[in-house]
Amino acid sequence: MDADQIEMPVFQFIFGILPLTCGAQRAFIAFVTPQFSLSFYPPLFQGFAFVLGAIVGSFLNVVIYRLPLNMSVNTPRRSFCPHCKHQIPFHQNIPLFSWIVLRARCAKCGAKIPFRYFAVELLTALLFLAIWNVCLQGGGLALVLPLWVLASLLIAATFIDFDHFIIPDEITLGGTAAGLLFSFIFPSLMGAESHWLGLAWSLAGAVLGYGLLWGVVELGKLAFGKKKLVFNPPAEFVWTRKNDDAEFAVGEEKMLWSDIFSRESDLMIMEAKGVKLDEKPAGEDTLRFHYNRLMLPGGEVMLDTLDIIKGKVAKIVIPREAMGFGDVKFIACIGAFLGWKAVLFTVVAASVFGSLVGIALMITNRRDASGRIPFGPYLALGALLWIFAGPLILDWYWQFLVPPGRTL
Ligand SMILES: [Zn+2]
Repeated sequence: MDADQIEMPVFQFIFGILPLTCGAQRAFIAFVTPQFSLSFYPPLFQGFAFVLGAIVGSFLNVVIYRLPLNMSVNTPRRSFCPHCKHQIPFHQNIPLFSWIVLRARCAKCGAKIPFRYFAVELLTALLFLAIWNVCLQGGGLALVLPLWVLASLLIAATFIDFDHFIIPDEITLGGTAAGLLFSFIFPSLMGAESHWLGLAWSLAGAVLGYGLLWGVVELGKLAFGKKKLVFNPPAEFVWTRKNDDAEFAVGEEKMLWSDIFSRESDLMIMEAKGVKLDEKPAGEDTLRFHYNRLMLPGGEVMLDTLDIIKGKVAKIVIPREAMGFGDVKFIACIGAFLGWKAVLFTVVAASVFGSLVGIALMITNRRDASGRIPFGPYLALGALLWIFAGPLILDWYWQFLVPPGRTL
């Protein structure tokens, strides 16, 4: 037997296994030493951030589907196919992977699984990775957990707002509470030195955001006027269903039903007399309408089951808000996590994005420009832009205000 025949496996062992064990050892030492540095094996931790993001994204898909329907996020424990209610076994519920392997179809009934499920998982995974990288480069690792939580809230709020024109309190108020708590535990989130200062700055951010958008909502009401319409003597009104929409006529004025409501949660209260629903007396003088339903003391009537509603109206209170209260609470949540500068930046950025998209929609398709564009996703986009590039953009903007060589 030649010497090198024995030595080869030994060399392979030494050069193969030793670096691995050294790596593990270094990882262990790095974790237990106070200034724990993650400069070694960065791809390992980046991979972890990505996989964790995909798993969280998979959970966010459940939240986005169930929360607005008032379903529990925990029960049923397993995800199910919305089409056949088949519970999805663990091995078919692996984030990103399952969607590709199952070729976007339910294994039981073959119903198509929307691309969006995959997109939410991928988006969350990429954001978790990007936040990891940003915190590693600067900012500090204490910010990773709070920013991961915030990113999850932003994604859930965005897709729920797209679907239902609401942002649930669990996300906005729950998120504000989480932001305050994180700022207390990790004051560096607010750039503060002490826990109590962190909490105070976080609270200031939340209050500023809330106050700012609350003011916008109130100003909007003033600007759009016509919050209340009084008819003396009472005027005839006719509500007529027209395919997916309806025509609403009072006296001489006619309007599209969808133009009256900008959000699913909007309410229109009508004081009327002699109301008939498809020629049947309603038996009630105060009608409370949502976009898709009429609420009566005896229960709800879905408007798509009716063809015509008639009567005489004395007073109408119509919502004319460019923005819902969900957005006001949502910016408070963003402020609690990111502070007051981020609030100002986010509101300006969201308004710019919103106007650009609004103008584009008006040019391409006038029907969509009726005001039914959710604002929450723009706020989420503005907040993300702040996390990744906010200070850079501020510096860039600042140079136009302060010429080089001069300080304020
Ligand atoms: Zn199915």
